[in-house]
Amino acid sequence: MTEPVRAIVDAVTRVIDSPGRAVPLHEPRFAGREWEYVKDCLDTGWVSSVGAYVDRFERDLAEMTGADHAVATVNGTAALHLCLIAAGVRPGDEVIVPALSFVATANAVAYCHAQPHFADIQPDTLGLDPDKLANHLAAVTERRDGRLVNRETGNPITAIVVMHAFGHPADMDGLIAVAADFGLPLIEDAAESLGSTYKGRHCGALAPLAALSFNGNKTVTTGGGGAVLVRDAETAARIKHLSTTAKVPHRWEYVHDAVAFNYRMPNINAALGCAQLEQLPGFLDAKRRLAKAYANAFAEVTAAEFVAAPPDCESNYWLNAILVDGAVPGLRDDVLTVLNDAGVMARPAWALLNTLPAFTGSPRMTDLTIAEDVGRRLINLPSSAALGEI
Ligand SMILES: *Cc1c(COP(=O)(O)O)cnc(C)c1O
Repeated sequence: MTEPVRAIVDAVTRVIDSPGRAVPLHEPRFAGREWEYVKDCLDTGWVSSVGAYVDRFERDLAEMTGADHAVATVNGTAALHLCLIAAGVRPGDEVIVPALSFVATANAVAYCHAQPHFADIQPDTLGLDPDKLANHLAAVTERRDGRLVNRETGNPITAIVVMHAFGHPADMDGLIAVAADFGLPLIEDAAESLGSTYKGRHCGALAPLAALSFNGNKTVTTGGGGAVLVRDAETAARIKHLSTTAKVPHRWEYVHDAVAFNYRMPNINAALGCAQLEQLPGFLDAKRRLAKAYANAFAEVTAAEFVAAPPDCESNYWLNAILVDGAVPGLRDDVLTVLNDAGVMARPAWALLNTLPAFTGSPRMTDLTIAEDVGRRLINLPSSAALGEI
């Protein structure tokens, strides 16, 4: 093992106390009233898409994040799809998306028969770079009939999706300003950032529309699930309508006033979610304690830096991340090999979205150098709340 590899692996194993056993990347924790609430669903027969836990979960989410309304969905991708529809994204449009994200961000755009238009990220927040985006939009677009049109493709650009990577808030002041300057709706992909705050306000409540995810590997899980957070009551009602097959409320008639979706979260999943949300403050404490331990362990390591929360932000540290020294050939893969051989599930960043077969033809900034550099150097470390508990 070379010296840089040893230094990084030692730092990780100082934090994770028993490297002999398999350590998952992110494990759910069911230490609250999960059994009680799920049993209640089974006992009462309310397991499906109508039930008291769905309403309660939505109220709890809105209260916890400071969002005006929440609409629970089957997963985060569905929530993002509904956000894009609500923002007015139409077939043939382009939507600005960070090149570094989980595939769901781009998939949701494709579900609208629109195209993701990939933009670069900042090295510190790992989210969209507002200055670079403003320069890019100024260079490649023009106004036609009140719409912002990509001059190279002739397609309208109709929204921006910002993603808070691994729980670290993106530069929202900058992005809100760019969105306003170019007249574009801003949507938060807050799938990874439940409990993170930007200048004291919760991620997911910083833009008029946001998507959350409660997949099994997220900070809070409902098995599978998601939610839309939305400011405006009318839009919230429309999103809920679209998530429930556009059924017109009636005591017995089945009338649906549009082609819509079966995207509503089932009650049994929401029951799990209610119990999980009660534990969120504890999860956040534990995850931030773990992040501090990693930060301390890496303070003296020159071959890698710990990715700390940006200034004025609190991260939920959904997945802790380090950036290894790019000057050492093969360092990232050597570290991944040693850690995974020892049962420590460290993972690289996602392959950049612009490199995936479905999206190689999609429009993009020519300069994606930061996303490419971060993509080559980033390693996510085991981040389960249980690892930070004392
Ligand atoms: C998890 C995640 C989603 C949504 O995923 P689902 O599995 O559909 O709940 C969307 N975007 C990002 C960035 C994610 O990490």
